[in-house]
Amino acid sequence: MNRIIVAIDGFSSCGKSTMAKELARETGYIYVDTGAMYRAVSLFCIKNNWMTETGINSEELEKHIQDIRIEFRTNSNGVSETYLNDENVESEIRTLEVANGASRVSTLRFVRRELVRQQQLMGLKKGIVMDGRDIGTVVFPEAELKIFLTADPEIRAQRRFQEMNVKGDAVDYNNVLANVIERDDRDQNRTESPLRKADDAIIIDNSNLTPIEQQKILHELFTEKTRID
Ligand code: C5P
Repeated sequence: MNRIIVAIDGFSSCGKSTMAKELARETGYIYVDTGAMYRAVSLFCIKNNWMTETGINSEELEKHIQDIRIEFRTNSNGVSETYLNDENVESEIRTLEVANGASRVSTLRFVRRELVRQQQLMGLKKGIVMDGRDIGTVVFPEAELKIFLTADPEIRAQRRFQEMNVKGDAVDYNNVLANVIERDDRDQNRTESPLRKADDAIIIDNSNLTPIEQQKILHELFTEKTRID
């Protein structure tokens, strides 16, 4: 079988990472969650007090961008977890505060340049499933399979709200919805690598799909692309 690059882009809270992880598990490919990388940079800023309600101290961040080492390590249950400078930050990066900060740091050109460089290195040998916002357009414009995942904002907010409730986070649905809308707006309207569908990406709207139906569609597309005729 042909080893390929699978690029999964789309809006926040669409289930991109669930979809990407499942495909990586089925195929033995490496999974890379690029959102986790922007979240790790956001956490680094928060910890250094470089992030306030109104802005980021981008000068300090730029000076220290090379001090940020992000890695993914697989835990004993086979789950990939995010490490920031050797510290496991997997749960810390999943808060609304960090998510909001991530969508802010991701507008900075020097941050994107550095993270894209690291992501391209990870894909040198192919056999990778990467999810994010600019994978099919900027990181791997030559990816063999590109998916653009979307769903209605209310449905995405409801899913995220339930997820956070299960984890015991006391959040308000309206705040989660506002966060989803705000991040969509920032992702689509930033100057640096705005979220957009690559011309050759296949759109999957999962508003009314079950996870199993969605996975079946992806699996069929993957099989088609990796088949050697
Ligand atoms: O996907 P996730 O919600 O974890 O991403 C966090 C934030 O990082 C997003 O809101 C988006 O602004 C940013 N991001 C990005 N480019 C990527 C992945 C994520 O700008 N490739």
